[in-house]
Amino acid sequence: MFNFKKKYGQNFLTDKNLLSAIVKDAEIDKDDFVVEIGAGAGALTCELSKHAKKVVAFEIDNDLKEILSSLKLENVTFRFEDFMKVDLKEFVEPFKVVANLPYYITTPIIFKLLEESDNLLSLTVMVQKEVAERMVADINGDYGVLSVMLKFYGEAKITRIVKRNMFFPEPNVDSAVVTIKIEKKYDVDRQAFYKFVKTAFSMRRKTLFNNLALTYSKEKLKQTFDEDFLRRRAESLTIDEFVEAYKKILG
Ligand code: SAM
Repeated sequence: MFNFKKKYGQNFLTDKNLLSAIVKDAEIDKDDFVVEIGAGAGALTCELSKHAKKVVAFEIDNDLKEILSSLKLENVTFRFEDFMKVDLKEFVEPFKVVANLPYYITTPIIFKLLEESDNLLSLTVMVQKEVAERMVADINGDYGVLSVMLKFYGEAKITRIVKRNMFFPEPNVDSAVVTIKIEKKYDVDRQAFYKFVKTAFSMRRKTLFNNLALTYSKEKLKQTFDEDFLRRRAESLTIDEFVEAYKKILG
């Protein structure tokens, strides 16, 4: 008898139509190598196994070993590891990520995937609805570091809203599926750019001048940008303006 562990964000899916729709959203076909994070009882893994060339599915909870091994999926490798500790450089061929993510580490997993791998083709993830809204947000409102960084890599889209009663056990909030195809649109160092964006958003209520002064000297900021720009807040800058500002100060 399996006991669900809240600490691992174990809210499983069973609805076949929904699972098949998620795989469709991800545009998986027989040439694709798919990485899944959080296999759970393997419901999504089974659907992925039918459509992909091969699947590597990570699961942190060893208590799921028996259930997952009994599935006998030929093109699937289950790895009982903490995904946060995996070195993504080991994936030398292009891969797509499809996952119903554990809610307690959604954002760290997304940033890890974006930052650490050059071979990520696309991301299709089930996340809490409010996180999905932040992921796709345009300037102001829910717009933050996560929204800017996703725009840096492509265009995130919500493909479906999933009501809480589709999960077992039922969580307290609704979820959504977000997809993003990775296009390397901007020719700048992604890690340095990420640092710059984080600095600009350090304190939401403060101006760019106050936030950027945490890292750059006030003289340098005044020499590089005009006053109107420095009086703005990070949440008002489009991705193109962020890249342009980054290039000005670091270029
Ligand atoms: N894919 C299954 C489904 O859709 O029914 C389960 C999804 S459930 C939301 C998330 C799964 O991620 C859980 O099985 C949990 O044990 C696993 N998990 C949590 N943290 C993890 C980590 N750091 N590395 C790998 N798996 C993790």
